[in-house]
Amino acid sequence: MSFREPGKEEIREFALSRGLDLFGVASMERFRGAPERMHPESIFPGARSVIVVGRRIVRGGWRGIEEGTYWPNYSYFDYSGLLNTFFLQMPLYETACFIEDSGYEAVPLYSGITVEGPPETGPLRKGGIAPEVNLAIRIAGVAAGIGEIGWSKIFLTRRFGPRQRLAAILTDLKLEPDPLVEPNSICKLDMACVRGCPGAIPHIREKKFVEIKIEDKTYRWADVDMGRCTLAYHGGDPRVSPFISKALPGYSFDANKQRVTEETAYKFCWPMSTGEWRKSSEHPSGYIIPGHAYIQKWGEGALGIEGSRGCMRSCFDYLEKCTGIEQVFENGPFIRRPRWILDEKGLPEKDG
Ligand code: SF4
Repeated sequence: MSFREPGKEEIREFALSRGLDLFGVASMERFRGAPERMHPESIFPGARSVIVVGRRIVRGGWRGIEEGTYWPNYSYFDYSGLLNTFFLQMPLYETACFIEDSGYEAVPLYSGITVEGPPETGPLRKGGIAPEVNLAIRIAGVAAGIGEIGWSKIFLTRRFGPRQRLAAILTDLKLEPDPLVEPNSICKLDMACVRGCPGAIPHIREKKFVEIKIEDKTYRWADVDMGRCTLAYHGGDPRVSPFISKALPGYSFDANKQRVTEETAYKFCWPMSTGEWRKSSEHPSGYIIPGHAYIQKWGEGALGIEGSRGCMRSCFDYLEKCTGIEQVFENGPFIRRPRWILDEKGLPEKDG
């Protein structure tokens, strides 16, 4: 039986027609030297190409948080809510079906992480690789020529700057790889992300960075303090949440004095944000921090309280104004009013 090999352009056209905005192909050679627990071939031995696709995050998704007035839709649509779990996955899955219709296997990958850290068991098959392998989707996006990783560690494209979510398909269909994006052709190292971030991204002069090499290109980004980022992002930092002081008046917490790992930060802020105690006339909802718990409940499980103040909002505001990024808006820059940031008690103090 012979199989008809669909061409790359045919697959790209199909993927984009289903609602995806970004499409690129990486060859397996571009993952040479990747740790085996992050290697596409550890998931699909025999894979010959990695297709990386992306769908934009609408700029308006952050509007309510930027104005300090409205939170639910960023978690619900744009963070790990519908965009990551549905809007991106439907066309991804249809593209995988399109490839399999031609007789080639296609593994659609959900870009969530099942277990962070070292494996909890050994290989399930003698000589095999332990379970919970995870493809680093942003690195795969670089290898597929869609964009680069900016100083903030966020994936950037010429079309949308930092505003997209990515997913991938591994296939044994051999496809021509797309050209790599030149390092720092999108991220200009202006440090807008650092100025907007509540304290997780080191400045370039601190010389804390991570780098990888793909073919002849070296990509470098900040070694972000993921403990502090997680505290801010997931509701453990009163400076970026009006809901903490409302639930716990007088509570004070300086996230920038903490030296915690990402895991410890999650352990601290998720139970506080989503946990319950008995309902009473004083606390009728029963939630410890009702504002956070409802956002997570409405947000399809996602909890994006801080709304990426620096690495997304400051970044695309700068890129749109200064660097010729493709999608710009008739109403001009995103940040149009003095920015809000609260003090360690969660009270209004100064403009950011
Ligand atoms: S999500 Fe917020 S805290 Fe984390 S790196 Fe981005 S701006 Fe900084």
